Amino acid sequence: MVLKIVKYPDSILRKRCLSVKRISKEIIDLSDDMIETMKKSDGLGLAANQVGSQVQVFVLNTTPREDSPTSEIFINPKILDQEGSVIEEEGCLSFPGLYLKITRYEKVRLHAKNLYNEDIIYESSGLLARAIQHEIDHLNGVVFIDHANKEDEQVIRDYLANLDASVETK
Ligand SMILES: [Zn+2]
Repeated sequence: MVLKIVKYPDSILRKRCLSVKRISKEIIDLSDDMIETMKKSDGLGLAANQVGSQVQVFVLNTTPREDSPTSEIFINPKILDQEGSVIEEEGCLSFPGLYLKITRYEKVRLHAKNLYNEDIIYESSGLLARAIQHEIDHLNGVVFIDHANKEDEQVIRDYLANLDASVETK
């Protein structure tokens, strides 16, 4: 089932997601729906609070350049190691139309559980490492505008002002 993506400034995007204690049917169904939603929106990753669930789960499109992308599910993820630094343009499904240059680690090594409650170690670099850092931020209530450079401050202010205007006219 394709879920509705929560847009900023919905307060759930500022909440810290809770750790998953048991991989229940709800978590399995949520993960399936998140993958479907991510594919439908052409996203590279999606965090649970972006679809209204305050749990530590995110999904990632691990082969974004292929015709039939494969997806991975990460439960209770934690970054173990990180190195390097890169600045690239980034977007977010909760901020449609906003793109900002964000500095991220170039490589990250991640620990998480999969749907079978197995420990997984996932090493990534470049685009996927960037997406992982972006999604883990979401699970901690952090959004990409929090990392923006000084020169994008005005762009963000304009974007947010526009959001306020569209909320008022509803
Ligand atoms: Zn995002």
